Amino acid sequence: MKTVILGTAHGSNVAGKRSPDGRLREYEYSREVCRRVRDALLARGVRCVIDIEGDREPSLRERVRLVNRLCHVHGDCLYVSIHNNAAGSDGHWHDARGFAVMVAPNASLCSRRLATIFHRRAVAMGLQGNRCYPSKGYYEQSLAVCRDTACPAVLTENMFQDNRDDVDFLLSPVGMQTVVDLHIDSITEYLNEEL
Ligand SMILES: [Zn+2]
Repeated sequence: MKTVILGTAHGSNVAGKRSPDGRLREYEYSREVCRRVRDALLARGVRCVIDIEGDREPSLRERVRLVNRLCHVHGDCLYVSIHNNAAGSDGHWHDARGFAVMVAPNASLCSRRLATIFHRRAVAMGLQGNRCYPSKGYYEQSLAVCRDTACPAVLTENMFQDNRDDVDFLLSPVGMQTVVDLHIDSITEYLNEEL
């Protein structure tokens, strides 16, 4: 049986990574989504762990090592790193909106299949915002947590923390539940196809 490893974003020790008005903190939001997705997957009998307990962020190398250790312990795994996007780092609001999913340029077919599922479901759930997606639907970016991890891996950018409308949506009960459901449904679809 596969183990799903959910990846938290950043830490309370990392500057920035919040909405300009301070209402949304990425590390906190990511951890809340991780907990809800984990609890739902466990309730469905899916093995699931969160990569880092606690609020700090380790170095990228340390995180990759930690995820790969979990892969080694659990055997067959997949890794889903859960973030909020940002259009700038200037502390101002920006126009860009919407969901995106990333894989590394060296991504396996499994990573790409998982990313395709996330993309298709996000669009179906109305989360495209004003984004123009690449033809494959997902983005390729050389992110250490996707590139250097031993198992299939994707990173989700759940709307923009520096867009007012996205932040309002993310912080609403419906928005939080939509983001959580997107992860539960996409991961479940991926696991079911595997059987
Ligand atoms: Zn992030």
